Amino acid sequence: MLEWFDRNQRPLPWRRKYLPYPVWVSEVMLQQTQVDTALPYYKRWLALFPTIRSLAESDEKKVLKAWEGLGYYSRARNFHKAAKIVMEKHEGLFPEKYEDILALPGIGRYTAGAIASIAFNQEKPIVDGNVLRVLARVYAISKPIDDMANREEFWRLQKKLIPKDQARNFNQALMELGALVCASKNPACAVCPIQKNCLAFKKGRAEAYPVRQKKKEMIKVTASAVVFRPRHYVHQRPVGEIMGGLWEFPEWKLVKNGRLSPEIIEELTAKHIENEFGFKPAKLKTLGTIKRNYTHHLETLWVFESSVIPSPLKGINSVEGSTKRQSWPSAWITKEEFSDYPFSSAHAKIAKMVSPARTGREFELEIQS
Ligand code: SF4
Repeated sequence: MLEWFDRNQRPLPWRRKYLPYPVWVSEVMLQQTQVDTALPYYKRWLALFPTIRSLAESDEKKVLKAWEGLGYYSRARNFHKAAKIVMEKHEGLFPEKYEDILALPGIGRYTAGAIASIAFNQEKPIVDGNVLRVLARVYAISKPIDDMANREEFWRLQKKLIPKDQARNFNQALMELGALVCASKNPACAVCPIQKNCLAFKKGRAEAYPVRQKKKEMIKVTASAVVFRPRHYVHQRPVGEIMGGLWEFPEWKLVKNGRLSPEIIEELTAKHIENEFGFKPAKLKTLGTIKRNYTHHLETLWVFESSVIPSPLKGINSVEGSTKRQSWPSAWITKEEFSDYPFSSAHAKIAKMVSPARTGREFELEIQS
């Protein structure tokens, strides 16, 4: 594994010097994000916040804006908080002690293990999706990996495997092997350096591992959002809620597991606008649809444009049927101001639909045929 890693590792920027801050940035970004997607964000992040101090001293809006598109915004917010703690408690030096790393906001067992082993070469285990897959196959483990008690066994096993003084390279080798060779589909067993030791390969059943419990059925959701013109109404989700602190256009969930015609979707959206803004919009124009996934939900978000805005400009108000959103901070902004507002990824796409920088191609991709 170590020889293989030496020859085949990708030349990633945080691997140049293994400094704690770049390793930390990479690990926070790589949770739930592929390396290729994370790389441009990583580079931009380090250009904007080259040191822990610059991150700690930045305002949260700028931090969230730099994170826009990566999703899971609580990670960005925790990262920001943790940078402040490193400045206050550790004199700006990233702590080396595992317990101190683990105590930082947003750093769980995996990230602490990754930073301790990759930046400081400490013999701390890491178990992510790639590691789970490789270990489940090599040892032909048929216990479901999504059962937390079984996960513990993977953590114990991974820890035992780390060769003395080689945690940095071994842990990365295991993850790199999972990413480059032992892929979920069609693993490249023919070129795998540990093929001889792999029980799943010997059984000819590599893809049967890892084993998972039965999946819950996905719920299909139809939702809609509206962009007013010429000024655009946006409001900020409260911290503590999903996507807390991020801005969005008004949106509504319309139906779960049901089919609605485009005409009904438009009608329901117009009704919501009337209920919440207290005025009747003229005919809505469809801008496109956006698909998004969240735990067991598959959502189609219809995006409409209304060329009528309330006068005087007011936000979601207290007419009957209005929601808790009326207390959220809100603003009527121009599209030139979009760049000042951190949006969730779906709403960043909506902003792109109306932004002058949008290209025709992106627009077509979001329109359903
Ligand atoms: Fe994965 Fe195949 Fe290597 Fe086994 S032999 S670890 S299944 S790539």
